[in-house]
Amino acid sequence: MRTRLIKVSPSGKPNSAITEAARFIKAGEVVAFPTETVYGLGADAMNAKAVKKIFEAKGRPADNPLIVHISGLNQLDSVVSEINDSAQNLIDSFWPGPLSIVMKKNQKVPNITTAELDTVVIRFPSHPIAQALISAAGTPIAAPSANLSGKVSPTKAKHVVSDLNKKIPIVIDGGPIKYGLESTVVDCTGEHPVILRPGSITYEMIKTVVPDIENLSKKSELRSPGMKYRHYATETPITLFTGQPKATGIKIKKYLAGQDVNKLIVLWHDGDFSKLPNHFKLPANAYEAAPILFDTMRGVDMAAEQIIIQGYPPEGIGAAVMNRLEKAATEIIEA
Ligand code: AMP
Ligand code: MG
Repeated sequence: MRTRLIKVSPSGKPNSAITEAARFIKAGEVVAFPTETVYGLGADAMNAKAVKKIFEAKGRPADNPLIVHISGLNQLDSVVSEINDSAQNLIDSFWPGPLSIVMKKNQKVPNITTAELDTVVIRFPSHPIAQALISAAGTPIAAPSANLSGKVSPTKAKHVVSDLNKKIPIVIDGGPIKYGLESTVVDCTGEHPVILRPGSITYEMIKTVVPDIENLSKKSELRSPGMKYRHYATETPITLFTGQPKATGIKIKKYLAGQDVNKLIVLWHDGDFSKLPNHFKLPANAYEAAPILFDTMRGVDMAAEQIIIQGYPPEGIGAAVMNRLEKAATEIIEA
């Protein structure tokens, strides 16, 4: 299969490219498209045969359910059976945006989309191209990240092509994206709402509108099937240093002493590693690091025998950045 890359202005104004991509969705095909979090690989969420093609193209395990994307609240009733108060609060506060909500599913949603669960995760993305595509297709779109399963999520169209060339018919190129981390996932089906996956909508932000929010991301493997799998894997092994910036800087310096520094590359933001033969200076702030993190990981992959990353304090968006880095790491060293 030939993969076509179609450039679309990020404004998402209706145009022939989006109309054509929507035609593919309606015909039961898959399309990669930009969202404000990462590039997604979408198919008609209500068409089991179409959704199966997402799992096949990515090599995604069948027990890992998909997020269903909508382009308006009027589509909610077709995919969920109940919206409780905490879900409604989250919807009012953060949609459209990078927050996904687990709710009780409408039986019309095929089992393959939800991996046989009686719940479904819904998101209303803010990206104009995502909204235009879903609206033109006239159906909710199921979409995980548009990478091979287990690999680093795509934040540029070229990342999608590098993973899925010849496996999917269309990639909509809407340029680099805003947040660069997958959405925050909140489960609203239990007694208290629980963050299953941290993201750009942080625990601190959610707490202001849903005071009984729990932050169970560390234990969320139990509640969110996808969390148990290895994610964000580079070919080159990653050693991650966790802790406060000064402490990690000192620990990395000690770790490097006596090593052949030509064989490794250091991604750092505090301390001074600029004299090393291979290094990349990340922004000091996790908010600025998040959008370029995955692109940087893909960019330095195979540039050395080992990647060393200086972590960020796990507060605010730092919690989401560290969640991704801890999954990517083959070794974690606490400073
Ligand atoms: P992604 O693979 O980035 O699209 O992320 C989807 C995440 O949401 C994965 O970690 C899934 O396991 C999780 N997820 C999807 N559906 C459900 C559900 N019904 N209940 C709990 N977690 C879910
Ligand atoms: Mg993914």
